Amino acid sequence: MSSLSLSTMLSSYDTKNLTIATVCSHSSLQIFHGAKLEGFKTLGIAVGEKQKFYDAFPLGKPDSFFTVDNYKEIISRADELREQNVIVIPHGSFVEYLGATNFLNLSLPTFGNRNVLEWESNRVKEREWLEGAGLTMPQEIKDPKDIDKPVIVKYHGAKGGKGFFVAKTYKEFTRHIDTTKTYTIQEFVLGTRYYVHYFYSPIQQNGYKLNKGSLQLLSMDRRDETTIDEVQRLGSIAELEELGIHPTFVVTGNIPIVMRESLLPTLFKMGEAVVEKSIKLFGGILGSFCLETVVTEDLEFKVFEISARIVAGTNPYIGGSPYSDLIQPNLSTGRRIAQEIKYAVKHNQLSTILS
Ligand code: AMP
Repeated sequence: MSSLSLSTMLSSYDTKNLTIATVCSHSSLQIFHGAKLEGFKTLGIAVGEKQKFYDAFPLGKPDSFFTVDNYKEIISRADELREQNVIVIPHGSFVEYLGATNFLNLSLPTFGNRNVLEWESNRVKEREWLEGAGLTMPQEIKDPKDIDKPVIVKYHGAKGGKGFFVAKTYKEFTRHIDTTKTYTIQEFVLGTRYYVHYFYSPIQQNGYKLNKGSLQLLSMDRRDETTIDEVQRLGSIAELEELGIHPTFVVTGNIPIVMRESLLPTLFKMGEAVVEKSIKLFGGILGSFCLETVVTEDLEFKVFEISARIVAGTNPYIGGSPYSDLIQPNLSTGRRIAQEIKYAVKHNQLSTILS
């Protein structure tokens, strides 16, 4: 089945009667809550019965459910969703469950620029983008024999940091590595982690001005990762490794955080550079994105990853954050997305913010 172009899909849409939809997971409570606040109808795409769970959170419950046997079924039933004027808000789990190729070919108007996926999921291209924007990334170690300081080894496609490990020497590396998988070796950056949640609008001038549109800083979090973040309750990592206990980096939650105010202007410069470079490379990142950073003791930022859509780290802020409250009280990322769609409908610019 060939995918439909955005203009074809939108030509049959009643844009006064849109439905905001997403997969029932990740940040869906926030997305539905934000969309409802902005007056949209909402629809939850669910595998199996989800109603009972959402009943526990009436303000985050979608108006209706679209139940499928598996996520791939969304592809073949996209026409049913188009009949309801559905706009899809992708999140990390949405893309993961559907698979990258299916997501790219999905015949549903989707918030954001889907072309970003290629630049975000390929570590070489991601580096070209971020370093090309002037950001500093952790050094990459091409040959494991060159390991002469702590490194983190990342398996490609590993979700939520599963299977990642740290090594301080080549010997340690060889003890842990699974050579059947492809991996990247990165310098382990010492410092404090901040996951910064931006929103870029190419159509509104209500934030930090860019060449086209504006950038907002909505919130930031720190991920809670098991077991690395609590393992020291049992002993030092070195001690534990001797016992064969190796820390892991599996995300289990998110912790709200703010940053020293003097560092905030740098965050805007970084966000601006990432957006401007993305426009040159692939037509531009749109809407929410997150830079995953470590701040070193010299107060320098090293960016180890970008997520090009709403991240689960925005979930502590369904009622607003210390930053978004200075834009508008109770502004979550989910609500900001709904506002962008509402504004685009009003000014006939939907095709600029969807793909
Ligand atoms: P990622 O999948 O790249 O987001 O990495 C998973 C987790 O590993 C991050 O949330 C960090 O806690 C940690 N991490 C990743 N890269 C680095 C790095 N270069 N230095 C230190 N910690 C890192």
